[in-house]
Amino acid sequence: SKRIFTFRRGAADRTADAAEALGLKGANLALLASLDVPVPPGFTIATSVWREAQGAEGGLPQALRAELRAAIEWLESVTGRRFDGDRRPLLLAVRSSARVQMPGVAETVLDIGLNDRTVEGLASELSDPAFAYRSYRRFIESYAALVFDADPSQFEEIADEERERAGWIVEPETPVDWRALVARYQDHLDSEMGAVLPQTPLEQLFSVITASYASWRNPLAVAHRLIQGIPENAGLAVTVHAMIFNERNYHSGTGRAVSRDLRSGQSRLSGEFGFGARGSSAIGEKPPVLDMAELATGACREFPADLSELTRHVRRIEAHAGDAVEVDFMVGDGELFLMQSRIARRTAPEAIRVAVELVKEGLIEESEAILRIDPASLDQLLHPTIERSADFVVLGRGMPASPGAATGEIVFTSERAQALANENRPVILVRNETYPEDIHGMHVADGVLTIRGGTTSHAAVVARGIGKPCVTGVGSLRINAERKTLHAAGRVLKEGDRITIDGSIGDVIEGAVPLVRPSLTGDFATLMEFADRARRMRVRANADTPIEARSARSFGAEGIGLCRTEHMFFEGDRVRAMREMILSSDEAGRRTALEKLLPIQRSDFIELFEIMAGLPVTIRLLDPPLHEFLPKSDAEITETAAMLGVDEAVVKHRIAALEEFNPMLGHRGCRLAISYPEIVETQARAILEAAVEAGEKTGDAVVPEIMVPLISLRKELDFVKERVDRVAELVMAERGCSINYLVGTMIELPRAIVRADTIAEVAEFFSFGTNDLTQTVYGISRDDAGNFLSTYVRQGIIERDPFQTVDVEGVGELIGLAVEKARRTRPDISLGVCGEQGGDPASIAFFEQTGLDYVSCSPFRVPIARLAAAQSAI
Ligand code: PEP
Ligand code: MG
Repeated sequence: SKRIFTFRRGAADRTADAAEALGLKGANLALLASLDVPVPPGFTIATSVWREAQGAEGGLPQALRAELRAAIEWLESVTGRRFDGDRRPLLLAVRSSARVQMPGVAETVLDIGLNDRTVEGLASELSDPAFAYRSYRRFIESYAALVFDADPSQFEEIADEERERAGWIVEPETPVDWRALVARYQDHLDSEMGAVLPQTPLEQLFSVITASYASWRNPLAVAHRLIQGIPENAGLAVTVHAMIFNERNYHSGTGRAVSRDLRSGQSRLSGEFGFGARGSSAIGEKPPVLDMAELATGACREFPADLSELTRHVRRIEAHAGDAVEVDFMVGDGELFLMQSRIARRTAPEAIRVAVELVKEGLIEESEAILRIDPASLDQLLHPTIERSADFVVLGRGMPASPGAATGEIVFTSERAQALANENRPVILVRNETYPEDIHGMHVADGVLTIRGGTTSHAAVVARGIGKPCVTGVGSLRINAERKTLHAAGRVLKEGDRITIDGSIGDVIEGAVPLVRPSLTGDFATLMEFADRARRMRVRANADTPIEARSARSFGAEGIGLCRTEHMFFEGDRVRAMREMILSSDEAGRRTALEKLLPIQRSDFIELFEIMAGLPVTIRLLDPPLHEFLPKSDAEITETAAMLGVDEAVVKHRIAALEEFNPMLGHRGCRLAISYPEIVETQARAILEAAVEAGEKTGDAVVPEIMVPLISLRKELDFVKERVDRVAELVMAERGCSINYLVGTMIELPRAIVRADTIAEVAEFFSFGTNDLTQTVYGISRDDAGNFLSTYVRQGIIERDPFQTVDVEGVGELIGLAVEKARRTRPDISLGVCGEQGGDPASIAFFEQTGLDYVSCSPFRVPIARLAAAQSAI
């Protein structure tokens, strides 16, 4: 097959899969040449030749040597220069590349073709011996480094000796001194390394290509391929082109031009240009750098080439790419050459700005704009981020549990957090792990840091829900609760010392680091409109409080997919009534306590229904093990005993009786409803009465969705549904109206999956609880997973944390099974997800494929889910 592919302005040999055959650089230069923009003429040796060369004698296939000679002749005729010519010598640059970026392979080698003779020819041609010798010196250094693996510092030492001997300062000042220096370089190679710099340019070229091929096996490159899953025999392409003398004088230089101002999205060049007068300028004087944007406004006129010509070429490349591009270019003595182009790198706000602008200009479709934005990058728009250019000390690294950065004083208890927050002092709540009673502290804190736990631990879930930055599982930190100190990286921090956490990365940083707070721009909203037009799945939010519900709506949530009612019970009076209910010795006592909770819950629900204005609201019945509500400290126990009018010993005894070995697999979910039906009855009444009242108030019909957690048996659901239906009949009779409501279930246990067809006979909707489902399918505790799952990922045993991204082969397969069974029983059943994966883009793609109706996620993830749902529908 064809080994060598030539290119010059206006003409390039190309193949179907250019990057595969010619490497990134070769393919790009061929593309630029075919777009008729000025490129240095040259050729690329295809990756297939690299494969051919493996095992070839001397490292190069014989046939290639002959073809290289012919290619050089072609290049001589195109450039009007001669390889090894005494006059106007042809000099070459060699740049290798694979079909993807490959760190560790050979860098560029410049000025191949220089030898003791041609350097003099170049010097007299340009009347610039210093430039010619400077190039020769650089060539010897880089050739020796690549081909002989020479240590560059040895050349520095030789230069120092010569400097002292001949008395020059920055570089040799006469041709005699220059000749002496390069002669010493060559002597050094000979005497110290037994190596000779070939004086035949073709030999130089062969050796550089051979050494470039060998660099494929550099340890860094091997490791990179292993990690990225790139095949070992993908191979390297080598591009050879004529040198541009971009470092010659003030008519020369190197620049980078971006086709657009990425901040404004406007089609206007930006970037910079540096004059290439290196070495020839007076000592200490740096050649100036020009701002392309300023140049484009005509503010300065020193650009050594034709700016309008550059602008025209960049436009052409942008139009071809259909996106903002970044172009590396060179100017050699006033003549412009484009060396490389790529899609312009940008921040999330810039990416959105440009995508929206390109749609406006009619250059791309809305669907294309949607696909160009990484949903995860929207986090940058929704939360403050750390000013990365700032200097800081990282104390430890944990799990990125809830995005955004926050700075504040260290506090170790929720009470202390509350006290400081009352004085408007920002705080970071630092705990070993958090419990329901910490929710209060988390609400007032600016950020949360836990020593233990993973990405679905209590702290992580709550923090994401309320949009607080959170880092979990920083095992290298230690809390001394007695001394109120935090021990980190050999330092001891006290309560009140400032720290910064970055919940997008998992960093814990000493002191206050400047934060950047991005604003939601109009473009962001426009992008969301594009997404809403493209997606099929609905997006709801997990919201338990009015604050969350409002923020969910402001982010475009189309209802509430999960209201965890237990989160309503952790505060003040509510937790007291809850404790009274749990610790009562009989049903009558529980009913009395529940009577107190009823109006509180009803008014909570009314508020939620009002905020959601007729959108669907799924309310889940009480789920967590009851002991989570129990008093823990002695003071709380004393208070509870007084409230109940019993002895402290009785309270303690009752608490001990409620203790469980495995609370997450214990007395929780619908099991509570079956033990204490009065809880269901009270909650159902609160929900249904609220629906009537909110409906009357707002005029929007409210259809509450009552959701039963942790079902594994159809009969469990029958039991609970019967209670709900009975209450509904009572409420309708009392209020003299009819109420539309749905009763459905969470699917979060393997048995419920297997029996989904029979459960769907009762359930009017399913919501997959992927947190518990993953926990029970894997048999991995979601609260302890952080301790070992990261090792699994590092060891390559799993690719990703299955709590974050759905495990398609295992848990995903089961979800698919349940969907199929449910629809067989009840074709119009509503199917959603309310576990954390509801906000994870990769999981959302799977849920789209599986045909779910909606996903539900933390309010702050709603925009991410909207975009991800759109991408997966396109
Ligand atoms: C779940 O298990 O996925 C779920 C949403 O419920 P919770 O996280 O409250 O257990
Ligand atoms: Mg659950």
